[in-house]
Amino acid sequence: MKRILELFATGTYSLTGIRSEFLKANIIGEKGKRPMPISSISYVLRNPFYYGVFLHKNEIHQGSHVPMISKKMFDDIQTAMVAFGRPRHDRKKDRGFLFRHFAMCGSCGYSITAERHTKKSGLQFHYYRCTHKSKKEKCEERSFVRQEKFLEEVKRNVGLVSIPDEWKEKFLARIETWESDDSQDRQTQIDAFKAELILIKQKIDRINNGFADGSLDILEFKELKNPLVSSKADLEQKIVALEKGKANRLEPLRNFILEANQAEKWVKEENWLEMKSFLQKVGSNRLLRAQTLTVSFKKPANLLAETVLAVRSTNDFSQQSSRWWSLSGSNR
Ligand SMILES: [Zn+2]
Repeated sequence: MKRILELFATGTYSLTGIRSEFLKANIIGEKGKRPMPISSISYVLRNPFYYGVFLHKNEIHQGSHVPMISKKMFDDIQTAMVAFGRPRHDRKKDRGFLFRHFAMCGSCGYSITAERHTKKSGLQFHYYRCTHKSKKEKCEERSFVRQEKFLEEVKRNVGLVSIPDEWKEKFLARIETWESDDSQDRQTQIDAFKAELILIKQKIDRINNGFADGSLDILEFKELKNPLVSSKADLEQKIVALEKGKANRLEPLRNFILEANQAEKWVKEENWLEMKSFLQKVGSNRLLRAQTLTVSFKKPANLLAETVLAVRSTNDFSQQSSRWWSLSGSNR
């Protein structure tokens, strides 16, 4: 039971996929030798009993029994449940492979599928491979990629776009200084526009007075006043825009740094669901060839990946440091 829970927590099994594990472990339905119904399996996977508590009248109580799994693993199981809580036909297609159709074949560009092979000994192996369905491109990729290897490749790619805690803190601090510089620049600009606005208002007043005391006729009055009125409106709009657009500009960058730092934790925790959606988000293309998964990272993830590789290529601490800093150099 513990092994099954651990398997499901990896997020690589669907409910139907994990059902065969129940069967193999001879955990079967109460009504005769039949596989557990999906509803029972889902009940088991949702039961907090396994991490040492129990439900009584809808309240969670601390049990006196030894927990089978950690609370963390229970949470991972709930995440995996959500991921596979899609309509049934969809689940069937996935058959327990989280990364099915996640990548394309590096040779022919066709979708990468996943399948199980059962050896004579009964041992099961999970593989990813090209579907070879392209009619235009002849596929030269004949190798299968073991699931373990594929998952290693997923981790390696996520590792390329991760920011360690230390650098997360440093980058966030730098963003803060940029933001305060920004708001100072903005204030200087606002003050300059306001000064200009006062001059224009004074000019408009003089023209109004000139018209009132008869020193300007109506044509002269219009000719002098109209351009000033439109400059006045223009300045007023600019001031409003500057005052509105506070620090929001750097918010996407801040979020990217936080997420890239989170990615480091997903690798450590082997949180496949998060790693999958993160790679889909920061990469435009994922190719599998010769046992290697290559993600085409989009900006700014591509700059981060280059930096991570540059940092890794040296053991010298100050060089590593300067490579990290160059990421946040003049280019925000
Ligand atoms: Zn192919």
